[in-house]
Amino acid sequence: MERKRKTNAECFAAAREVLVGGVNSPVRAWKSVGGTPRFFLRGAGAMLEDVEGNVYTDYVCSWGPLILGHAHPEVVAAVVRAAADSPSFGAPSPLEIELALKVRARFPSMELIRFVNSGTEATMTALRVARGFTGRKLAVKFSGCYHGHADAFLVAAGSGALTLGCPDSPGIPEDVASCTIVLPYNDIDAVKRCFVEHAKDIAAVIVEPWAGNMGLVPPREGFLESLREITATSGSLLVFDEVITGFRVPEGGVQQRLSLVPDLTCLGKIIGGGLPVGAFGGRREIMEKLAPVGPVYQAGTLAGNPLAMAAGIATLSVLERPETYRVLEARASRFAAGLADAAKAAHFPLVVTRLGSVLGMFFASAVPATLDEVKRTRGDLYPAFFAAMVEAGHLFAPSAFEALFVSTAHDEAILDETLAAAERIFRELAKKM
Ligand SMILES: *Cc1c(COP(=O)(O)O)cnc(C)c1O
Repeated sequence: MERKRKTNAECFAAAREVLVGGVNSPVRAWKSVGGTPRFFLRGAGAMLEDVEGNVYTDYVCSWGPLILGHAHPEVVAAVVRAAADSPSFGAPSPLEIELALKVRARFPSMELIRFVNSGTEATMTALRVARGFTGRKLAVKFSGCYHGHADAFLVAAGSGALTLGCPDSPGIPEDVASCTIVLPYNDIDAVKRCFVEHAKDIAAVIVEPWAGNMGLVPPREGFLESLREITATSGSLLVFDEVITGFRVPEGGVQQRLSLVPDLTCLGKIIGGGLPVGAFGGRREIMEKLAPVGPVYQAGTLAGNPLAMAAGIATLSVLERPETYRVLEARASRFAAGLADAAKAAHFPLVVTRLGSVLGMFFASAVPATLDEVKRTRGDLYPAFFAAMVEAGHLFAPSAFEALFVSTAHDEAILDETLAAAERIFRELAKKM
């Protein structure tokens, strides 16, 4: 006997009756691509199954955390074991030490670490610590970089290049927004001009070292190195938000790859193996400003949660095996090349960027370097691409300018199937251009 299944449309209608917009994070509503969001029952490896029994190859991977794919047996076993020992202590456990040591082994710049529950909390608190340490007020961020939804980061550039920021969402006081300066990513001259004017007031510059929230945009040669130099000279802290890039590359993060040492680093996503987690850390003298050692306050009922720690430890343990990154790197690079080749064969303009197993896809003939350039790519064609891919059983991000994630569970056969579908859809799109 089989109970009648609910459809995705029925779930979405029911969800909208009780959850705002039917979702708990806006992009999940598929507003920018159209169509009915899928409601999922389960995932295994690279695949997801929705309530109607449709199966999709997943390139969202929970927006990055699932570098080992869905329900990796070692991660599931670790979480089950931890849950059996109680899901929360509200007190210290050895699991926190173990995960912190694993994180620091790859991120030696994080001399002291604090675990929190999300990337948002990590960046929000890193900024508070930076302000507490420097005694300064202003933050500098770059347009197109996402650092979670704390007030200080939901800020848009003012009308002039050097003006203070404006709220990018209702609910954020202008006084708060005016403490953040928003500059174009990859524009080091704008940073220099900003520091001429405001150097003494800037507590921190926060940057995604590879911008992973406007597609995937690489830093221009020298951009991050110059940021390091300028902030060091003026006594501002440099904060690397490696929530996406952390553990996506064998070295650990972009900072190791470029031999740069930021003052503070924010992590999330992968280090929680799919459970809610975030972390920030950095130089001892800075981190010791934080309570209980110092006066800067931060706390969390579920911070360092044993289930999240266990999932993170299991995930990083698999990543410590040398073959893991070797396989991932080979597959992701083949997939990136395959996407570019598919588009070329279809005479469709596409450029693909890649950092380890995270990819960016732009409908354009050159890689963009700033948010303005990203906006000038043919993102308008993305909804049609997305819909056709979903129809063919390949789930890409439901928004034009999001990264794509490849996990260890995406084997060559799976990737080739997706490439074949993409080539067919690129051909159809090319006809409409
Ligand atoms: C996802 C993300 C965040 C926010 O993390 P949440 O866990 O969603 O709060 C912050 N910074 C970057 C770079 C991210 O990609």
